[in-house]
Amino acid sequence: MGKARISTLWLSGCSGCHMSLLDLDEALVELLSGKVEIVKSPPLTDVKEHTPVDVGIVEGAVATEEDEEELRKFRDNCKILVAIGDCACFGGITSYRNLFDKDEVLSRVFVETESVVDGKVPASRYVPKILDKVKAVGHIVKVEAHIPGCPPSPRALLYALKELLEGRIPILPSDMASFE
Ligand code: SF4
Repeated sequence: MGKARISTLWLSGCSGCHMSLLDLDEALVELLSGKVEIVKSPPLTDVKEHTPVDVGIVEGAVATEEDEEELRKFRDNCKILVAIGDCACFGGITSYRNLFDKDEVLSRVFVETESVVDGKVPASRYVPKILDKVKAVGHIVKVEAHIPGCPPSPRALLYALKELLEGRIPILPSDMASFE
């Protein structure tokens, strides 16, 4: 078998899950020099287009219209989709804003925050519109595997990648479900 083609997507998250992927360190180098080709991944390549891959890995929750659109395109190009981190799996920290009305949140951030002077809620077409509620990835598209954690540990991510390369859908052992 040739190299497995993998892409990653970064939705509304803090990048911590991608940093955890990079924390695979020499194991990542080993994977990249042998079994894996990274096609598109925000910390590694600045590729905007979606191309077909074997595995798609997604970080972050779905919080904006742009997130939803990108996620749907990504899903269409992945044979297997893996959600990594609590934001992608459950909504996580990103979904805390669901406790409030969307307009209240926008007003608090752009108008009422103490450091803001003459603030207004941005209305540019270049600023993605936020959704009424933040959603987990699985609420929008089908997800084959979930690797929770905030962020998931490099050990858990490596386990998942190795399982995928063996042709198995990873089911995380309970002792890998939290960062150590
Ligand atoms: S799960 Fe945690 S580390 Fe990952 S994007 Fe969300 S807040 Fe960041």
